Amino acid sequence: MSYTSELYLKGDLKLDNFIGGAFQPPASNAYLPNEDPSTSIVLNHLALSSEQDAESAISSACDAFEQWKALGYLKRAEWLVKVADAIEKERDHFAILESADTGKPLWLCQKVDIPRAVANFRFFAGAVRHQESKSHLMDDAVNYTQRMPLGVAALITPWNLPLYLLSWKMAPALVMGNCVIAKPSEMTSMTAHRLAVLLQEIEFPKGVANFIFGLGKDAGQPLVASPRVRMVSFTGGTFTGKKVAELCAPLFKKVSLELGGKNASIVFDDCYIDETVEGVVQSAFLNQGQICLCGSRIFVQNGIYESFKLKLVERVSKITVGNPKECWMGSLISKAHREKVMGYAKLALEEGGTFITGGDIPDLEAPFSNGAFFSPSIVEGLSSTSRCATEEIFGPLVTLHRFTTEDEVLGYHNQVEYGLAGSVWSSDVKRAHRVAQNMETGMVWVNCWLHRDLRVPFGGIKASGIGREGGEDSLRAYSESKNICIFMN
Ligand code: NAD
Repeated sequence: MSYTSELYLKGDLKLDNFIGGAFQPPASNAYLPNEDPSTSIVLNHLALSSEQDAESAISSACDAFEQWKALGYLKRAEWLVKVADAIEKERDHFAILESADTGKPLWLCQKVDIPRAVANFRFFAGAVRHQESKSHLMDDAVNYTQRMPLGVAALITPWNLPLYLLSWKMAPALVMGNCVIAKPSEMTSMTAHRLAVLLQEIEFPKGVANFIFGLGKDAGQPLVASPRVRMVSFTGGTFTGKKVAELCAPLFKKVSLELGGKNASIVFDDCYIDETVEGVVQSAFLNQGQICLCGSRIFVQNGIYESFKLKLVERVSKITVGNPKECWMGSLISKAHREKVMGYAKLALEEGGTFITGGDIPDLEAPFSNGAFFSPSIVEGLSSTSRCATEEIFGPLVTLHRFTTEDEVLGYHNQVEYGLAGSVWSSDVKRAHRVAQNMETGMVWVNCWLHRDLRVPFGGIKASGIGREGGEDSLRAYSESKNICIFMN
């Protein structure tokens, strides 16, 4: 069978689990209809997996582990390059599938999601070849440190950047010698399934990479709770992250948690105003505001507040929303998620805010009139402690605030429970540096946003997670260091 994008989108394909190198129906034989959120049309049906499927995937990964580990990092890196080549060859199909599954614009999938998935496999194939190990000499002995694979790793991912985040975990986990079980979001499993097809086509070693589909509690939780899974890498909401942490703790399981955020864009009077407006808009509304790094609180210094606001509204009015094949902004992930965002829009008014743009559902023609669209929306006049300004909304609804001094804005910034990322916009490098130092986040961008280098540490503090991935940090996250002391006398 040729797994073209047309096949995935015609309504009747069943997305089965991929275990031990073969596609298998779920033990329940039950499937979940998978909709295109921009039209509500059913695209295909997703396996609803249970503990039985999770156990079978774990057994297959355990069985494959010794051989994959023994293969050595150079051969494993070669496999990663083969995977990258295979995705790249099919990149147009992958982009179409990702856009249909998420409602995000096709241009974004073509420019960011799929190229990044390819880059992740290539990058970690290279990173492992450049890895150094330490040695510590004693008068009579030499110690050397070796990074050992952990065994079986569960990779649990969200819906906002499906293949992008799965490949970000899968590539370093595999290259360090682990076998993996991927559990993508039940809302966006199409590109993961297509990746499994590719693995089968390129004859990737059986059982090394397994995929199980379905709901978090039924398919994901048994992986987290299993003593045979030695590492869990989870990206998703803070609430789910807590549950994952609770299950891992008594098993002393290694865990990496990349969770929610409430990131701020801090704009000073002396910023380069046009570039800043552009950067702040991208940061607020790219991917419909559904990126964990999106700047959903905009703090603007008093001196330019009014002029900045005018430019901001003018720029947002140029954003096109609708058909994901044509517009800059597509649909939210689901109508249920749009309900949540609309709940915050209502709350914003109750909390005393005013929409300076948006706050509504755009008027679209069929079939998009049945999609989960929401206009890019900015609300001002809210207290920095209001619920809308402190809770993660994860959609195209951002709050705008004014401030006078550095200390004041840092106070506003640091009062939220999250600490993922943020951006500072100023022509005064000393000030930007000072403010960045004092922002309680894992990452800060100065005069840019989402300018990513795959070598840098990625992750948050506070309720935004535990651990770092990216470059060396990913290689460390998916391995354990072992010291070997050789006595020489
Ligand atoms: P979610 O927590 O609902 O789900 C994430 C994944 O966990 C899904 O695959 C889901 O099926 C699974 N899951 C749910 N319950 C589970 C359980 N009990 N045990 C095991 N797995 C379970 O998150 P979401 O709604 O898919 O994604 C949005 C969230 O992800 C936002 O909060 C966003 O900030 C966050 N996110 C964070 C980062 C980051 O790098 N920090 C990146 C992207 C998204």
